[in-house]
Amino acid sequence: MRLALSAEDEAFRAEVRQFLSEKLTPDLREAARLAAGAVTDAPVAIRWQKVLYEKGWVAPAWPKEYGGPGWSEMQRYIFASESAAAGAPGLPPFGLRMVGPVIMKFARPEQKAHYLPRILAGEDYWCQGYSEPGSGSDLASLQTRAVRDGDDYVINGTKIWTTHAHFADHMFCLVRTDSGGKPQEGISFVLIDMKTPGIKVAPIITIAGDHEVNQVFFDDVRVPVANRIGEEGQGWTIAKYLLEFERGNAYAAGLKTGLAALRRFAGTTRASDGDTLLDDEAYRRKLIEAEIDLAAIEMTENRIMSALSTGQNPGPASSMLKTRGTEMSQRLSELGIEAIGYYGGVYQPEAREPGRNAEPVGPEAGVTLMPKYLNTRAASIYGGSNEVQRNIMAKLVLGL
Ligand SMILES: Cc1cc2nc3c(=O)[nH]c(=O)nc-3n(C[C@H](O)[C@H](O)[C@H](O)COP(=O)(O)OP(=O)(O)OC[C@H]3O[C@@H](n4cnc5c(N)ncnc54)[C@H](O)[C@@H]3O)c2cc1C
Repeated sequence: MRLALSAEDEAFRAEVRQFLSEKLTPDLREAARLAAGAVTDAPVAIRWQKVLYEKGWVAPAWPKEYGGPGWSEMQRYIFASESAAAGAPGLPPFGLRMVGPVIMKFARPEQKAHYLPRILAGEDYWCQGYSEPGSGSDLASLQTRAVRDGDDYVINGTKIWTTHAHFADHMFCLVRTDSGGKPQEGISFVLIDMKTPGIKVAPIITIAGDHEVNQVFFDDVRVPVANRIGEEGQGWTIAKYLLEFERGNAYAAGLKTGLAALRRFAGTTRASDGDTLLDDEAYRRKLIEAEIDLAAIEMTENRIMSALSTGQNPGPASSMLKTRGTEMSQRLSELGIEAIGYYGGVYQPEAREPGRNAEPVGPEAGVTLMPKYLNTRAASIYGGSNEVQRNIMAKLVLGL
């Protein structure tokens, strides 16, 4: 990928900047700035999705035939960088980035025609039903059972850590349709309407005090067999394909924006000797080292992304992106805690309410640093733990 911008790319960047200055309203920026979770809260993310949808820019990685904008790699890079720099909210990942590509590859034409336009327009909000108590890294051991009864499956069991199940109207879910043979062979991939009788969503509150994840219970839940994607027993293949998209995220643009904000914050925070924290040689060195490593992550991302033509799957290189991206996000969150100091100990969730009228305790720019630090602890676990990603890289990338 060439990094020098052509005249057309410069014009495209100007167009993106103009669009963002008009459509990314102050309240959307404020809500994005105050969000500390891994996934932007659904109401904010959906609002931004609808704005992008109107413009035809909501799914840069989707092939044009399904509603993607048909951009070059460079245009996608420009759009991601400019959106992050402008402080745009994250988009809902479960439909656009995860189940969307699966539906494109494995679903029947009528399933594609039904679901893909709704995902694009933000009409359906999805969640991911993979993990169970006792089945995370060892996902193939999952026990949620789907027993065929006429034209339906009857589903019993439980899923856990289900991000945003409380917002979702649909879940893509791995269920066991056969208990004989190898565990991987008895798994099927089904789409479940969350309003179906027998589904209960119970919140799990994180250490940061946020409601992001849930446990979901299924008690004789009837799901039409027509909602299965692919063949019965093909779920494991489909599940792995989806995980490549989940892990093969582009992290660098958001991380660079976070690092720039941290640098600004350190430039205004007084250290004990009266200088700013940015004048402190030891702290500055840590920031600069992070900046250098982040530049390397960005180059790796660009190299991998440019090797893909639109709509292709990232393959096992996604494990590298996931590992390096999440480790850097944890590192930046630790530098944030170092910068906020004692103020990080103040529990003030109300300070993260957009439009709040009370002054925060400590610097305004620091109210999300502790919640982000706490939430980011999970980054090396969700999407498959980083230890498991290293196993995948050892086997599939390095051939060990
Ligand atoms: C915030 C958050 C959000 C999540 N959202 C979702 C979601 O929306 N949907 C969903 O389905 N799941 C979700 N998950 C679940 C996530 O995918 C699992 O937590 C993850 O796969 C790890 O599984 P586990 O928790 O069962 O840990 P375990 O598998 O029990 O692992 C425990 C420890 O053992 C290590 N370990 C396990 N096996 C190996 C091995 N073979 N080699 C080396 N080390 C190993 C792990 O790295 C980890 O450190 C979420 C998790 C979190 C924390």
